Amino acid sequence: MNSLPEATALLASGDNFLLTTHLHPDGDGLGSMLALGRALKSRGKRVEMVLAEAIPSSYTFLAGAQEVRREPPTDFVPSLVIALDCGDRTRMGLPPSFSFPPEVPILNVDHHLSNDFFGRVNLVDPEAAATGELVHRLLSAGGYKLDAAMATALYVAIATDTGFFRYTNATRSALALAARLVEDFALEPGKIAEIVHEQKSLNAIMLLSLVLATIQLALDGVVAWMYLSQEMLLRYPVEIEETEGFINYARSIVGVEIALFFKEAKPGEIRVSWRSGPTVDVSQLAAHFGGGGHARAAGCTIYADLAEAVERVLGFLAAWHRARERQR
Ligand code: 5GP
Ligand code: MN
Repeated sequence: MNSLPEATALLASGDNFLLTTHLHPDGDGLGSMLALGRALKSRGKRVEMVLAEAIPSSYTFLAGAQEVRREPPTDFVPSLVIALDCGDRTRMGLPPSFSFPPEVPILNVDHHLSNDFFGRVNLVDPEAAATGELVHRLLSAGGYKLDAAMATALYVAIATDTGFFRYTNATRSALALAARLVEDFALEPGKIAEIVHEQKSLNAIMLLSLVLATIQLALDGVVAWMYLSQEMLLRYPVEIEETEGFINYARSIVGVEIALFFKEAKPGEIRVSWRSGPTVDVSQLAAHFGGGGHARAAGCTIYADLAEAVERVLGFLAAWHRARERQR
C-alpha cells in the first residue's frame, strides 16, 4: 500500500532501523538515506545505514557519510528495513551475505516510474523530483525537526537528481523545497555544486575525451550512442561513478531523442545508461533488457561483450523506430 500516514506510523513504532539505498549510489539515494538516518537518530532510534559499496568521493562531505557501513553488525536484527531510491528489491544495496527475517517489514521510499511496490508500505511517487522530496514529506508529516546537515543532504538529493535544476523533473515544488532549505538553513548552493561537481580527477576528464571520440549517431540521428571499454578504464582508472555526467553530451546533440552510454564495468558486464528528451519513455525501452528507471533517465545491465550489447540494443531500437515510423 502507498501511504504517508502508514509510513510515518512505521517510523514512530520501531526502534531498530536498517537504511539502505541502491548500488552505484547517487546524490539522491545517499542524501535521502543520510537525512532520514539523522532524523531517526535524533529521536533516539538505533539506525544502521548500510551500503555494500564505497561512497563516491563527491558525497563524503555529507554529515553521517562516515557512519555508513559496508555490512550490518553481525548481531543486528532490524525492526524495519527502509529502502531509499530503489525501484525494486534487487536494487537494494545490502551485501548478498546479509538476510533479514521475512516478517521484518520494508518501507519503500522511491520516485521511480518503474517501482514495483516491493515494500510492506510504499511511499512511491513518480511525480516527485527526487526521493529526497519524499523524505522531506515523511519528516514533515512526522513532525521531525530538520537541522542544517539534514537540509544539506536533502538539497543535494534534489539538486543532483534534477541535474542541478535543469531536467524536466525540476518542478515548481522541487525548486520551492530547495529554496526553502537554502533560506531556512543558510545553505550555499554555489559551494555545494562546487563540492559535488568540480572535484573531478584529471583521469576522469581524460577518459571523457576517449568516450566522446566514440559517439556515433544511428537511426537517422534519433539515437546517439557511445561507449567506455575496460581498455579505456585501464588507461585512465576512475571510479565508475565519475562517468555519470558523460552521457549528457550525447543527449545534447541536436535531433537526438535517445542517448545511450555503454559502460563495460567488468569484462562481460555492460551497464547501459539511457537518456531521452520529452518524446520517448526510456524506462519502458530499458525494461526490455530487464532494467528500468525514469521516463527520461533509465538503465539496464547486459551480460555480454561490448559489441554484442551494442548490437542487441541498437537492433531492438531499430525495430522500435520502424514501428514508430509506421504509426506516423
Ligand atoms: P544511470 O544511467 O544514471 O545509471 O541510471 C539512470 C536511472 O535508471 C536511475 O534512476 C537508476 O535508478 C535507473 N537504473 C539504472 N540501472 C537500472 C537497472 O538495471 N534497473 C532499474 N530498474 N533501474 C535502473
Ligand atoms: Mn532518485
